Amino acid sequence: MAYNFIQNFTTVNFSKGNLGRKWIVIHYTGGKNDTAMANSNYFKNANRGASAHYFVDETTVVQVVKDEDTSWAVGRNYGSNNLFGKCTNSNSISIEMCSTDGKIATATYKNTVELTKSLMKKYGIDASRVVRHWDVCSKCCPGWNGWGAAGCDASIWNQFKKDIVSGTVATILTPSKTTNSQSSSSSSSSTSASKPTITFKYKVRAGGKWYPEVCNLADYAGVRGKAITDVAIGVTQGSVKYRVHVKGGSWLPYVTGYNTSDGNNGYAGNGREIDAIEVYYNTPSAYANKYGYKKAKYRVAVIGKDYYSWQYDNEKGNGMDGYAGAFGRSMDRFQICPN
Ligand SMILES: [Zn+2]
Repeated sequence: MAYNFIQNFTTVNFSKGNLGRKWIVIHYTGGKNDTAMANSNYFKNANRGASAHYFVDETTVVQVVKDEDTSWAVGRNYGSNNLFGKCTNSNSISIEMCSTDGKIATATYKNTVELTKSLMKKYGIDASRVVRHWDVCSKCCPGWNGWGAAGCDASIWNQFKKDIVSGTVATILTPSKTTNSQSSSSSSSSTSASKPTITFKYKVRAGGKWYPEVCNLADYAGVRGKAITDVAIGVTQGSVKYRVHVKGGSWLPYVTGYNTSDGNNGYAGNGREIDAIEVYYNTPSAYANKYGYKKAKYRVAVIGKDYYSWQYDNEKGNGMDGYAGAFGRSMDRFQICPN
């Protein structure tokens, strides 16, 4: 039932043929608000060097690459100990979920479950071979909280895995909130006292464009050769305070939010090239009492050069100057994780 099904095949972003449909890979587009149709048009005629078989939103599934052809969705490895090389572009079908208000809407989730189930049935694919882009390439995809990539809460993904085998589609779970504080009303007995994962989520703007979110060291934020102008940093446990230094200018005020639509407190930067970043991480007290204080570990790379050494919080001394970067030099890559 449910969704409208449209075929709007790309003329360029695919390879002819495949080696069998053995896996289904689930992705998110990384957009905050986008539609299946708009995505299919984006990939239609221009060479994007990427693609997926299907795009799903709240009402519609658009097929962009035929099942019997190969889409370009899992060809780059960002980590190790994953399914890279086993699950490949040519033996998998990739499904991209679009976002509504910065998350996967319930209707989109249900449509994705339904589409996945029909493909499993059609090609005899077992639920164990329905995986995330994260499982294949260690890329933070689907990157919204609840989907379990890079140490994020996995409640929605776990539900998804159940829903694709059960007869009915359960209502989507709300991802458990893990921002700030120890959020331990939910540290119930069932979830043992395992150490909570601290995940930094961050993105940068360069050339007027925000690039996809990165979690911890799954990738770097930025594009080689393009000077970074703005930085947004969030964290799943505790909080951050950060600021940037404008090249040829001065330090901008500290910010604490993570929201690229919030020009006041959601990111650091004013659209001009930056040459230094300073970050301070606040460990939640419950975490610190149990496991000790953590620091933000971060680094930047100047355009055309390798990374500078890691910086830990905004500490000075021991060869540290309290920030990452060098005044007067534009940077194009940024990484941050817990120490
Ligand atoms: Zn993906």
